[in-house]
Amino acid sequence: MSFNIKDIRADFPILSQKINGKPLVYFDNGATSQKPQVVIDAISKYYQEINANIHRGVHTLSQLATDAYEASRNKIKNHINAKFAHEVIFTSGTTHGINLVANGFASLLKPGDEVLVSALEHHSNIVPWQMLCERTGATLKVIPMNENGELILSEFDKLLSEKTKIVTVNHISNALGTINPIKYMIDKAHQVGAAILIDGAQAVSHLKPNVQELDCDFYAFSGHKMFAPTGTGILYGKEAWLNKLPPYQGGGEMIKEVTFEKTTYADLPHKFEAGTPNIADGIVLGTAVDYINSIGIENIQEQEKELLEYGTQRLLEIEGLRIFGTAAAKTSVISFNIEGIHPYDIGTIIDKLGIAVRTGHHCAQPIMNFYNIPGTIRASFAFYNTKEEIDVMVEAVKKAKLMLS
Ligand SMILES: *Cc1c(COP(=O)(O)O)cnc(C)c1O
Repeated sequence: MSFNIKDIRADFPILSQKINGKPLVYFDNGATSQKPQVVIDAISKYYQEINANIHRGVHTLSQLATDAYEASRNKIKNHINAKFAHEVIFTSGTTHGINLVANGFASLLKPGDEVLVSALEHHSNIVPWQMLCERTGATLKVIPMNENGELILSEFDKLLSEKTKIVTVNHISNALGTINPIKYMIDKAHQVGAAILIDGAQAVSHLKPNVQELDCDFYAFSGHKMFAPTGTGILYGKEAWLNKLPPYQGGGEMIKEVTFEKTTYADLPHKFEAGTPNIADGIVLGTAVDYINSIGIENIQEQEKELLEYGTQRLLEIEGLRIFGTAAAKTSVISFNIEGIHPYDIGTIIDKLGIAVRTGHHCAQPIMNFYNIPGTIRASFAFYNTKEEIDVMVEAVKKAKLMLS
């Protein structure tokens, strides 16, 4: 399949918007991706043609909606290569998935047990584990990072012991773009009998995780960062682990039988899907997966690699500019600052020029503390971005620098 950037950009109607009178340059894909027309259309098609509650009615519409929802689950199962469709739990996003697992571990941990998180985590992969440790008396340990924004694996090895019950790490850092050596970490965690959760929120738009090959116990991600609507997400869990963990929420849909004396829970995946889910957007997450596969993940990676190389080289032309996150394995995220200028001031000026970047701590304050900075400017590219857009950003940053220094 050939990669025609003009056709691809035409798939995303928002990209032809003008912002503050200038053509939009959207470099905030790390926060959320834009949506292709097929995804936008699929949402209205659902409401126009098959809207009904799922898994409940015998009527035809309910059947159609249920079939579409389960077909989406199956597409996602194939996309991530899970062994069973019932290992794919619909959630509202990564945060929900991580909390589901952390909450479940409350029944498994005791004082003296250890939970390992990495120094590179998003707050949503730190705070639920801190809450878990507070509840259970377990201890939170942190896998340290180096100046390049890479985890120090020799330290990780030393932290692992039979006290370690669960390790949690992101596949790709949202703040720096580092791709973590998760296969190594998964195998090492298993050697001491620990479970491991991978936060794939930032990874799923850049690569296709193969959960069976990785052999991770849990893999959580959000739909909205992979061209699907907000309010959708997936928690993959190995069948044995999902059977072991208690339900997260009680309610309709997750039960087998309810009496006032005792309730028995439904089988997987329904045990973890209490209440009416986000049916339309869950179905459309499958549409987004189809869209990604129609472009081809190799094509996406090739385009993003070029953008990362070109963007890095062009930004480094600017005197006083420092890039944070220079890991050998990195995706198309560039976090940077200019000496003596607050990132927020640059972000504000370049927004006036139509450029959307993120400024701040990127929900990863510990990383900012590590570098002793208040935040960074983060340009995160998707496959629909271009080198011309990078040129526009570089000129805008130069202009902002002149105005502010
Ligand atoms: C965005 C992100 C999250 C949180 O995802 P939500 O969609 O807000 O739940 C967690 N981890 C990483 C690495 C992220 O990029």
